Amino acid sequence: MDILNKFKVLSSYSGLELVEDIDCQLNPNTRKNSISRAVLPNGKIIKLAKTLLTSACERNCYYCPFRAGRNYQRETLSPTQLANLVYSMHQSGKVEGIFISSGIAGGGQRTQDLIIETAELLRYSHGYQGYLHLKIMPGADYDQVLRMMQLANRVSINLEGPNQVTLSKLAPHKSFYSELIIPLQWIETIRNTLPNHMGWNSRWPSSSTQFVVGGADETDLELLDRSESLYTQYKLSRVYYSAFNPIKDTPLENHPPVNPTRQLRLYQANFMIRDYGFRYEELPFNKDGYLPIDHDPKTLWAQMNLMDTPVEINTANKQELLRIPGIGIKTAQRLLKARRIHKISSIEDLRKQGLQSNRFFPYILLDGKKLPRQLSLV
Ligand code: SF4
Repeated sequence: MDILNKFKVLSSYSGLELVEDIDCQLNPNTRKNSISRAVLPNGKIIKLAKTLLTSACERNCYYCPFRAGRNYQRETLSPTQLANLVYSMHQSGKVEGIFISSGIAGGGQRTQDLIIETAELLRYSHGYQGYLHLKIMPGADYDQVLRMMQLANRVSINLEGPNQVTLSKLAPHKSFYSELIIPLQWIETIRNTLPNHMGWNSRWPSSSTQFVVGGADETDLELLDRSESLYTQYKLSRVYYSAFNPIKDTPLENHPPVNPTRQLRLYQANFMIRDYGFRYEELPFNKDGYLPIDHDPKTLWAQMNLMDTPVEINTANKQELLRIPGIGIKTAQRLLKARRIHKISSIEDLRKQGLQSNRFFPYILLDGKKLPRQLSLV
């Protein structure tokens, strides 16, 4: 098989872990593409290729198509082959960014060295300036994590489960703390203690992780509790959730697939924590620790907390505005700005500031008055 076809095989597996692409998260069909549209933290949209250096792996995670011993055709590219190919694709405009991960062969540190070698070839032999997302392998050491952070725009470590107990049901040979949490601590320590000019283009990379949702019977409460601590303690930019889908000829092949709406609800709750100032304890979990599937969690929270104490749009602070369904960061900022010029006293005023849906009607006061009930049902 020639190098380009190997690349296509290594890049096309639909379960390839972490993606930046918001479309990909919500539309599994697009994940079959080896190049997809990715939204970067600064809002820029790029063509991102996602690939593995090798689909051979010596570990045996229960959900993974690449697990050791599974009958599956393995492909491998050398660092030179992958760097040359990515660079030529970048030069021709086919890709603007690359995410490099790998199966583990010869230990986590040896595999990490191959990813670092690929990145160094790209950055220093080819002068590649494009977006580079590098995966940190379980077992990587501190010096390797630092080197990755000097080469990448983003680094990631997939936790897969929210704690050791659930991780063990997915990946029996991964150590939650020593292999996964400790490197996340190193990333944040490096960002806080070493000067920015040591990072790529004088910036330290952002960091992210991913959970497999529903493969280990973990609860939403466990996932969101851990997500909150990842944002607050380790300053992750994103936590991704990937709904479990069983893969034939793996130990979890008979485990039921997860309803994709659960993944959507987790993302909605995740944004409440990351962007709107909610604590995970405030979210509307049921008694078993799951978010209801039928409604978005922000609306459910508002039904329980704002029906009797609606928020006055003309005096609420930003955090209070952000708790109202239908109001996101941009809309809250626009309302605060508009309020400095004139009182907001009508639905038309709200529409002008970007509130298009009617979800917020039952939860607000306009100049001390609730909106008429018939309006709230429009
Ligand atoms: S270490 Fe990664 S590639 Fe290897 S079996 Fe586990 S999830 Fe799959």
